[in-house]
Amino acid sequence: MSEVSQEARGTSGAEAAVLELRGLRKAFGEHEVLRGIDLTLRRHEVICVIGASGSGKSTLLKTVNLLEGIDDGEILLQGTDIADPRIAVDGVRARIGVVFQQFNLFPHMTVLDNVTLASRQVHGVGRAQAEATARRLLERIGLAEFADAYPDRLSGGQQQRVAIVRAIASDPELLLLDEVTSALDPQLVGEVLDLVTELKRQGTTILMTTHEMHFARNVADRIVFLHRGEVVEQGVPAEVLDAPQHPALIEFLSRVH
Ligand code: ADP
Ligand code: MG
Repeated sequence: MSEVSQEARGTSGAEAAVLELRGLRKAFGEHEVLRGIDLTLRRHEVICVIGASGSGKSTLLKTVNLLEGIDDGEILLQGTDIADPRIAVDGVRARIGVVFQQFNLFPHMTVLDNVTLASRQVHGVGRAQAEATARRLLERIGLAEFADAYPDRLSGGQQQRVAIVRAIASDPELLLLDEVTSALDPQLVGEVLDLVTELKRQGTTILMTTHEMHFARNVADRIVFLHRGEVVEQGVPAEVLDAPQHPALIEFLSRVH
């Protein structure tokens, strides 16, 4: 109720909702994978979605990026319902950065070309400017020396950091990260999560799924627990992780801790 009235007053700044999901439903055939999801992500917020394998986390992120259509509900990006079939999909995707678990970089393109591709082709930024931005970002993550290399020269952790940098190169309104460390060797996980922490510090708005509970505790503003396609519990990390209420969350945490 209070969220609706805030919106009605046109609240802006730090309180503005970047993403609002209302009654989101998605089925694959008879299988209801998302069963009425409501979720609000405000500017500069980081939400970590946790839940067992198959609970619907990836599908949730895919619906936001319009990679999966929905059966019912609304997906409001800065107040516009992007689930409306009349919305131009490419225009929406240009506003959202996405990184998946693996295979994010184009193997036949250099690191620099990977990072500049969207800026140049989707956003119409000139080559010189796009490359200057890309080199600055690569510098910041300590990978400037790999600008002209192909992705297979990089470790998995380095590739994921490039993929994240690529996703933010066009300054998206929202960053979606789906288990970006799950495919990595344990010793490479930290460098990727450190970059996500750095992005949060800079104010990036992030909706992510992760199995890294220690990270979620330290970085998430809110943790959302998904169980069989429903948000059955959510709150600040201390509430959700230290005082879980729902039996499924208690069971889940006993397995991942
Ligand atoms: P999570 O990311 O939490 O592991 P997913 O969103 O990947 O869960 O999957 C949720 C459920 O939806 C699973 O049962 C999965 O098998 C099913 N599912 C996902 N994608 C498809 C698809 N394209 N076609 C049919 N079933 C799917
Ligand atoms: Mg998944």
